[in-house]
Amino acid sequence: HAGRAGDAGHASDDLFDRARRVIPGGVNSPVRAFRSVGGTPRFLVSARGPYVTDADGVEYVDLVASWGPAILGHAHPQVVQAVQDAAARGLSFGASTPAETELAELVTARVTAGGRSPVERLRLVSTGTEATMTAIRLARGATGRELIVKFAGHYHGHSDGLLAEAGSGLATLAMPASSGVTVATAAQTLVLPYNDLDAVRAAFAEHGGNIAAVIAEAAAANMGVLAPLPGFNAELARIAHEHGALLILDEVLTGFRVGPAGWWGLEASDPAPDLFTFGKVIGGGMPVAAIGGRAAIMDLLAPLGPVYQAGTLSGNPVAVAAGLATLRTADAAVYARLDQAAETVSAAVSDALDAEGVAHRVQRAGSLFSFVFGQDAAATAPLDYAEVQRQEAYRYPPFFHAMLDAGVSLPPSVFEAWFVTAAHDDAAIGRIVEAAPAAARAAASA
Ligand code: PMP
Repeated sequence: HAGRAGDAGHASDDLFDRARRVIPGGVNSPVRAFRSVGGTPRFLVSARGPYVTDADGVEYVDLVASWGPAILGHAHPQVVQAVQDAAARGLSFGASTPAETELAELVTARVTAGGRSPVERLRLVSTGTEATMTAIRLARGATGRELIVKFAGHYHGHSDGLLAEAGSGLATLAMPASSGVTVATAAQTLVLPYNDLDAVRAAFAEHGGNIAAVIAEAAAANMGVLAPLPGFNAELARIAHEHGALLILDEVLTGFRVGPAGWWGLEASDPAPDLFTFGKVIGGGMPVAAIGGRAAIMDLLAPLGPVYQAGTLSGNPVAVAAGLATLRTADAAVYARLDQAAETVSAAVSDALDAEGVAHRVQRAGSLFSFVFGQDAAATAPLDYAEVQRQEAYRYPPFFHAMLDAGVSLPPSVFEAWFVTAAHDDAAIGRIVEAAPAAARAAASA
């Protein structure tokens, strides 16, 4: 490749200056700005397999994977072929296509336990934000109630009602809420500490008759990774149902990444959630997301029912082709490879941190993982957002930049998951393992 990682950044500096003159902050999504790690975001021009290449021609082993979608690796030949074939047949019709039904059938078949699928119907949208926004409208429509329960540190996209104490970019930027959300809207969201069933019971004891739904990430991965305690999701469903409310399980990030049937497939929690949201992997790198669930609830959507939702580009044929090709290619071997890559990378980085005496904890949820830094973190697993925020987050920026200089691209925030792909082969993983000791030294001297 043309450049070495250590020399990187010149072309990106110029491109970033230019971008900032016409795009707020130079980025089209705040998580891409290097706000918490400092420095200039690399402008990428291509990606293949486990690698991305920046505008200087420098290649990096990628552990962002487009924030989740690229489970097969970038530009997987079968996915690219499917997209090219679909594009040649027309970019968008604004009408039904056979492939939409195939995708819905595939999701229903995959998200099945004991011969039954809690996803009897699937409606396609273009982003995870739309999926969760619609799920909430549907829950309100189905129950005739207004309040929503969410958990601190969970991110469900950027619709008004779901931004309170949200993870992802809001965690990175330390924003407890967004300006521009009305007081009335904010008041309809109850924010509770994660993994705290007593808090959930108390909220239902007080407001039970007016809670439409609980929404939870299937396994939290937008404040770093933080798995639910065993039985937590099942108990959420049980408590919600006891009070006539619904459980919306947000699998936008975990769905079809942590396993062939998402996080729910790993747990097969019973009672099952009433509604699911999917995104990222379901579109294979193109804009596809979805709401799924029991027919009795899903059929409240227009045109059958009174809950309105629509989209010019919903079920876009080129995007659906990418999602179908990705899911069809993601077989058991792909998930085994993802688990193995996650295990090898997290163990190697953990060993490097140990060797430098950097107290830390490896957080895992299936093939998703991240690190929590600090002595307290090493003692007990963080169970909620408050504990995650107490970590020695200042150790991450020097760690991140040492990895970047050595040609490894990590998520530019300690509050994000690391994403492997099935294309992370021994060569790519070897480069991460080689880069880890110097990065651990940088974290130690922070
Ligand atoms: N829910 C979860 C759990 C997510 O991780 C995300 C995105 N990171 C979203 C919803 C929102 O999806 P999108 O960015 O496609 O709007």
